[in-house]
Amino acid sequence: MRTEKLSNVYDALVIGAGFSGLYQLHKLRDELGLKVAVIEKGAGVGGTWYWNRYPGARCDSESQGYAYFFSRQLHENWQWSERYPGNAEIRKYLNYVADSLNLRKDIFFNKTVSNCSFSEYTELWEIQTEDFDALYCKWLVTAVGCLSATNVPNITGISRFKGDWYHTGKWPHNDVDFNGLRVGQIGTGSTGIQAVPEIAKTCEHLTVFQRTPNYSIPAHNTKWDATYTDWVRSHYDELKALVRSTSNGHPFRISNNLTMEVSDEERQKMFERAWNDGGLRFRGVFHDLLTSQTANSAAADFIKSKIRQKVTDPKTADILTNIDHPYAAKRPPIDTYYFETFNKDHVTLVDIQTDPIAEITRNGIALEGGAHHELDVIVFATGYDAMTKPLLNLNIETPKTSLKSYWEGGPRNYLGLAIPGFPNLFTITGPGSPSVLSNMPVSIEQHVDWITECIAYCIETGCTSIEAQEQSAEIWTDHVRKTADATLLPKVQHSWYLGANIPGKPRVFMPYAGGLNTYRKICDNIAEEGYKGFVLNSEKTHKTSKPSDFIFSEGVSLGV
Ligand code: NAP
Repeated sequence: MRTEKLSNVYDALVIGAGFSGLYQLHKLRDELGLKVAVIEKGAGVGGTWYWNRYPGARCDSESQGYAYFFSRQLHENWQWSERYPGNAEIRKYLNYVADSLNLRKDIFFNKTVSNCSFSEYTELWEIQTEDFDALYCKWLVTAVGCLSATNVPNITGISRFKGDWYHTGKWPHNDVDFNGLRVGQIGTGSTGIQAVPEIAKTCEHLTVFQRTPNYSIPAHNTKWDATYTDWVRSHYDELKALVRSTSNGHPFRISNNLTMEVSDEERQKMFERAWNDGGLRFRGVFHDLLTSQTANSAAADFIKSKIRQKVTDPKTADILTNIDHPYAAKRPPIDTYYFETFNKDHVTLVDIQTDPIAEITRNGIALEGGAHHELDVIVFATGYDAMTKPLLNLNIETPKTSLKSYWEGGPRNYLGLAIPGFPNLFTITGPGSPSVLSNMPVSIEQHVDWITECIAYCIETGCTSIEAQEQSAEIWTDHVRKTADATLLPKVQHSWYLGANIPGKPRVFMPYAGGLNTYRKICDNIAEEGYKGFVLNSEKTHKTSKPSDFIFSEGVSLGV
């Protein structure tokens, strides 16, 4: 270790200042009294929401559940203005939290981590940054998000395009003016579906390049009135108990009704009611939508019929409804006038499944069939190298191994929280945890609470390092796979949940599909039993964990 940098030694370092990093800083600094700092790439707090400022960027979780619940005071002094919070309001909320807890003074902004290496000699992590700084810590916590490494597809010709192009996940901080411009958008996932209606409002022409059509449920966003915001403010205990008890961390329960156990007429009525409620609640209308193909097909047919009712041109409706995957097996979008936007004269849908993109030209996009679409701007709503890439980008290594080589065949870890061979490292919402299948802030609070208690336990018991056992990672990774296999989720071969959107990425179903409530019990149980499945250095106790310890059969997560 370079001695001149000793002032840069911390008890704990946290990478990322979004929902995860802010709460982790508060817990370790203000509850455990540790010397902690956060390293953040952006110039402000917000994490995912710092970067996602594209037109229409809005959370799909309902605002009364999309918040921290660890503090009554924070809850009672904040009011969301809409059913689904927009990106600017979420940043405002996270700034409010950072200011209320005086977090900013311990955050290094505009600093990008380039390498994290563990020294067996000092038992410290050395964190190097792109501006050649080095910081050291005993406990390293990654709070880098699951959807922060953008995916710009390698399409021939992008460098010669004479107009501007943007990826939705790295949107400029100034307003992008589409007035009078011909815009091409590639991608119709949750992001693309939010962006289309907003971009169409101001541009001269919008061409949407759709590879895979998608289901989408109307969001029915609305401004909250004072009666509702007062209700939310005064129901802290109930809302907290609710989000912490549901399988997806959302503030609503999944029905116990089975799709085919009600009459055809009743089923239609129930779908209709759920459609009118809107948003992710639709998925909760029946219990078995993600476990029974028959149930799923009923929901899929219902949604397709609704899309057909909305879209006036039958050919366009055909392209939008030619959906080949089960409903919600890919992350289900929700929308505000997405399908209706295709009824506008200045909006064109292009089916690039049947006629793929050949190249980007100086003036637009050319298709293999010979058509050329003249464009002034291209918007890539093409998603992320999800879950693993944000961690791999940190170049995490020890003298014996690196995360890149350990995860060569796909992510392997224990509880999505800890990786064998990487002591004192914790990954908030890592692959193998409920994360993207749940309402993220609720999952994040669970992880941060667990990590904080684990570090406190190590300090109290004089343990100098804690590390997941190899066997625990094997068992857990297998359990994550089996849990997903019990659902329709892995049936979609081209889903980012499986890493299939990134050429060459190992196909591993990454999030834990057993439900956040089940997962919480598993984590609590492991902690209560003295961190079973981990090696705690001071004790030299090699505790083994049997597969049966992890088998829980409760419901499938139906979250974000
Ligand atoms: P995504 O779901 O991965 O969708 C990417 C889109 O780009 C897909 O339509 C994909 O087509 C298309 N695409 C990718 N590469 C392409 C290529 N080379 N040529 C043509 N098309 C290509 O990404 P996303 O929409 O950004 O959403 C990612 C996740 O972010 C969501 O699933 C969700 O978890 C999260 N999100 C959350 C919110 C929220 O409210 N909380 C809002 C937006 C997004 P294929 O389907 O054919 O691959």
